[in-house]
Amino acid sequence: MAACLCNLDPGVAYEGPRVVYATLGGSPTWGLGDRFHEIAATHGHARLGTHRPRTPYGPGPSVEHYRAPSGREFLRIPSYGQVIDEDPELRASEWKTFWILWKAGVRVLLVGGTSGSCDWRRSAADEDAVRPGDLVLPRSYLTRDTMPMGLPGTELEFCLPRQVAIMDDPFCPPLADTLRAHAGRLGSFRFRRVHGPEAGVVLNRWLAGNGFESLATCRMLETLGRQMSMPVITGDCVSPVLARVCGMHLAYYHVVANWGTGLEVEDPTIALNRLYMETLPPVAAAFELGFLDAASEPTACWCRELLRARPPEYARAQSPRSEQ
Ligand SMILES: [Zn+2]
Repeated sequence: MAACLCNLDPGVAYEGPRVVYATLGGSPTWGLGDRFHEIAATHGHARLGTHRPRTPYGPGPSVEHYRAPSGREFLRIPSYGQVIDEDPELRASEWKTFWILWKAGVRVLLVGGTSGSCDWRRSAADEDAVRPGDLVLPRSYLTRDTMPMGLPGTELEFCLPRQVAIMDDPFCPPLADTLRAHAGRLGSFRFRRVHGPEAGVVLNRWLAGNGFESLATCRMLETLGRQMSMPVITGDCVSPVLARVCGMHLAYYHVVANWGTGLEVEDPTIALNRLYMETLPPVAAAFELGFLDAASEPTACWCRELLRARPPEYARAQSPRSEQ
């Protein structure tokens, strides 16, 4: 991450709500603008307040506090914690967002995204392919950037000598099962196909950028996917390592909106805008709200065990902190 640490203020205290469940509403609900709470109200979810916590890295994003029909409270940080006109990487958006979630006590984090498919199987006969209109619960991820893996100015800044994140099952499998169950309860709406973790879909992480993938990148990912027998999708993805280091179970879903380049035979702008503005937002909102109301904290996964403690000698092998 290119963000600068010159203004780091480790003394900032978290003053927002404390909850176990949270979501980073992303591109599936962009079409609702700032009206997610209105849709939530129609499903019986009350927005209790909106906060703007300070963080050690500067002013944080909006944090919405909800109570679900079951009585459970959860947080929603809109659009991955991105702030209008601010470069997310430059402004340490992921550090700010995860610091808030970590301080709030979040242990189950739901994240959704929309993605482009780089499946190599492109003919109409390829029924098993990951195509636009599908729901994907990814098995693993690739990253093209240097992901944030800790929270500077806290005990999680660089915890490698004390604990290491094993990145098998980056997306909590029992929560993927819960998401799959909720995908079948969306009224008259049906995804063309649901690809669960067993389908081995790889999410090529990229949290923020001003463009679609290039043709060359898509061809590379198609080729890679064919060689690995793991289809690749490209789209927004928060750092799975940071979520694991912060002790969170990550529930991840992706709606495949288009092919990787963003281009199709028909006008891509019109088709994509219709999808993002009309079709997807109410479905994605209902999907997320249903999950947040009903999902339980998993016990049959190994997300916590995969954050492995290390022998104390490893920490002593490093230089002690200076007195400054
Ligand atoms: Zn888990």
